[in-house]
Amino acid sequence: MAANHCGTCTLCCKLLAIGELEKPKGQWCTHCTPGSGCRIYENRPASCRDFACIWLESQKEAKPLPPALRPDKCKVVLSFSEDRKDVMGFCDPSSPDAWKEAPIFGLLEVIAQQGIRVMFGNGREHFAMDRGRARRVELSPADSKGVRIFVRFLD
Ligand code: SF4
Ligand code: SF4
Repeated sequence: MAANHCGTCTLCCKLLAIGELEKPKGQWCTHCTPGSGCRIYENRPASCRDFACIWLESQKEAKPLPPALRPDKCKVVLSFSEDRKDVMGFCDPSSPDAWKEAPIFGLLEVIAQQGIRVMFGNGREHFAMDRGRARRVELSPADSKGVRIFVRFLD
């Protein structure tokens, strides 16, 4: 998170939970200077070292995602699950409808069209991409690892 190639983006330092720091989702990490970076970069926890959002991963590819899709610009952090069969998204609760905007919604559609399950939340509701639209979903309560799974569509 917040390596130099992230530029001035630090959004995952707000949106993601960091177990080692007992930092909940949706709150700025106390070690982050928003828009600048991590003040404990050399000693940041393993989960921070290991994390790369889809935008950051793409910067190594022949066709990287454009600057407009950098999470601090589009207000959504997307990342693959370990087996790369799922994409999880976190939309900034300060901009809860940002996921509806182009080009981020277009990216959600393109990923889903590849057969990858796409789920995301905005701090209020959770959604899953289903045949070109985002449907509200109910998730299970968190298990001991904080994992919640799909229960049913709500609309
Ligand atoms: S959201 Fe992505 S680009 Fe932004 S700081 Fe985190 S890893 Fe870097
Ligand atoms: S420790 Fe650093 S990299 Fe990890 S969430 Fe906090 S500010 Fe971000």
